[in-house]
Amino acid sequence: SQVPSITLNNGLAMPQLGFGVWQVPDDEAAKTVSTALETGYRSIDTAAIYENETGTGKAIAASQIARDELFVTTKLWNTEQGYDSTLRAFDASLEKLGLDYVDLYLIHWPVPAKDAYTDTYKAFEKIHAEGRAKSIGVSNFRPEHLERLLAETSVVPVLNQIELHPQLQQAESRAFHAQHGIATEAWSPLGQGKGLLEVPTVVAIAQKHGRTPAQAVLRWHLQIGNIVIPKSSTPSRIKENLDVFDFELDADDLAAFAALDEGKRLGPDPAEFNLGA
Ligand code: NAD
Repeated sequence: SQVPSITLNNGLAMPQLGFGVWQVPDDEAAKTVSTALETGYRSIDTAAIYENETGTGKAIAASQIARDELFVTTKLWNTEQGYDSTLRAFDASLEKLGLDYVDLYLIHWPVPAKDAYTDTYKAFEKIHAEGRAKSIGVSNFRPEHLERLLAETSVVPVLNQIELHPQLQQAESRAFHAQHGIATEAWSPLGQGKGLLEVPTVVAIAQKHGRTPAQAVLRWHLQIGNIVIPKSSTPSRIKENLDVFDFELDADDLAAFAALDEGKRLGPDPAEFNLGA
């Protein structure tokens, strides 16, 4: 496909643009993920808590796409953190997906109050050594959580998946990641489709290139080096969000995007999010 790859710190390649399936009900996931695969997406981002690993797995099986051409990510939910519970939760996710390995397994949130993410990650290292997760990483880790993980475990996470969009540009995390060879993956890259896509600067840049606001925002992510996983259930938007590899933002556009940063979180602050502790 036309999607470029990012080389992760373990040498494996990951498509820079994939398909996110948060809030896709399990009984619609097979159809929605099939549409994405038919459109040309090869990377799928799910999680145990999304409760759509079964539907996602059905679409993968039905696609007939060679397994090594797909990149499947799932995530461990907070309540399952801890060494033994992680091993059990991983087995359950693989079973639901109908796969014998995932490409990437992520700790969904650090859950600081639980104080279990290093033990959890040691179970991830075992799963990784067994080849059942080709890569392991984290999500929603702030630099202080990563510092501790790097000090207490052996395998450097391939990436950190964090909330990131033009109104929350995460400069501190991006710099920390770059310093440690950790890729940055943006969740809610379109700002969940609320507000951001109507911001006059974004609309103007899109118009200048004859594109949609969503496409302009995705281009911004790609050009600053992020991995992105936009979500849509609408076939025309699924296609539109992948159709971003034949135009380029210029330096003025990038400067205008840089000025949109206002530290606006749509989701919780990971330092304080202890659901499931
Ligand atoms: P997103 O930024 O991808 O926005 C999705 C929404 O934007 C859609 O529901 C739709 O309403 C709108 N949209 C999509 N394409 C559009 C288009 N072309 N034009 C206009 N509107 C459009 O938000 P998201 O789903 O929150 O994030 C993407 C993925 O990131 C999720 O599906 C999930 O896989 C992942 N995620 C991870 C975490 C985490 O904690 N790790 C949290 C949230 C999301």
